[in-house]
Amino acid sequence: MPRPILATIHTQALRNNLARARHAAHDARVWAVVKANAYGHGIERVFEGLRGADGFALLDLNEAQRVRDLGWRGPILLLEGAFELRDLELCSRLDLWHTVHCDAQIDMLAAHKTNVPQRVFLKMNSGMNRLGFAPERYRSAWTRLNALPQVDEISLMTHFSDADGPKGVTEQMAVFAATTHDLPGERSLSNSAATLRHTADPAQMTEPNGTQIVSDWVRPGIALYGSAPDFPEHSATEWGLQPGMTLAAKLIAAHAISAGSSVGYGSNFVAQADMRIGVVACGYADGYPRICPTGTPVLVDGVRTRTVGRVSMDMITVDLTPVPQAGSASVATLWGKAANGAVLSIDEVAACAQTVGYELMCGLASRVPVEVAA
Ligand SMILES: *Cc1c(COP(=O)(O)O)cnc(C)c1O
Repeated sequence: MPRPILATIHTQALRNNLARARHAAHDARVWAVVKANAYGHGIERVFEGLRGADGFALLDLNEAQRVRDLGWRGPILLLEGAFELRDLELCSRLDLWHTVHCDAQIDMLAAHKTNVPQRVFLKMNSGMNRLGFAPERYRSAWTRLNALPQVDEISLMTHFSDADGPKGVTEQMAVFAATTHDLPGERSLSNSAATLRHTADPAQMTEPNGTQIVSDWVRPGIALYGSAPDFPEHSATEWGLQPGMTLAAKLIAAHAISAGSSVGYGSNFVAQADMRIGVVACGYADGYPRICPTGTPVLVDGVRTRTVGRVSMDMITVDLTPVPQAGSASVATLWGKAANGAVLSIDEVAACAQTVGYELMCGLASRVPVEVAA
């Protein structure tokens, strides 16, 4: 028998989450962001749940090829654009749309031999200071692109640094609007946080002069997988999102320990009273963060309890006090949904690990078998 650990991808939850993002974005079209192998879920495994999107956005050309191999004929956007000239050949071959964020990419386009002009998304650095043309250089980049026979339609794009926090998107919106107000082309601005928190509220997407900023394409990623982009201010449940992934493993041992006994490496948990503990077949080599302290929430047979002691490579230990009937063959849900319907959000576990749901999803280890559920 294989080791009793399993990740499950929930197709219906992905569909639900896509619908939530679409609803929040009003009439905008939705790029399902599937970079990093669909945030660790597996592109092939999420495809059925997300094929209702208007396009797929990612940044690795091999992943673009995989989306085409699945039979997807709609738009695919490369979020970081071409890395070298021959990437543009693949863009022509696979009909990929691509981001242009720097002069070198315009040079590549100018050198690219193609009879079929390419659709590009011109990226502005409106304040995040990662990728994109500074506002004062944006229009000249647009003019240069527009003059190239290799270029078809130019869409306008930016990315927010603070859509999930108190600073919000107002300043970057103002920069973007002031620079682009008279440029033609579709607009793409919002990630999950901006889509849920700001696009949903038209007042926030309005220029100072009252003009509504049209968002033609939104780019949700994390929300599609059922994690709240602004946890703990909002939970995934509050946003109407369902876990796209469950990580579960069986108890492979359960036993009683007496008050004063310690558990695991470093003896770093000491029982205050007699108690029962369970040993779960999941450890940091499966992608469960070693940093998770005693007290990290976990479900056992759908009942909420906590981890005790240090996470080891292949095992964690859990407190069975709230689940006295639990024994070996009981199921521990590390994140996601238990058989009785109880949900443990990946965001809660991530917070215990001082990180975000993104990192836990992306870190699911390759040794964990994955199943796709309806
Ligand atoms: C990753 C990414 C997104 C999606 O962000 P989420 O926070 O996961 O919704 C959107 N746009 C760009 C440019 C990205 O790189």
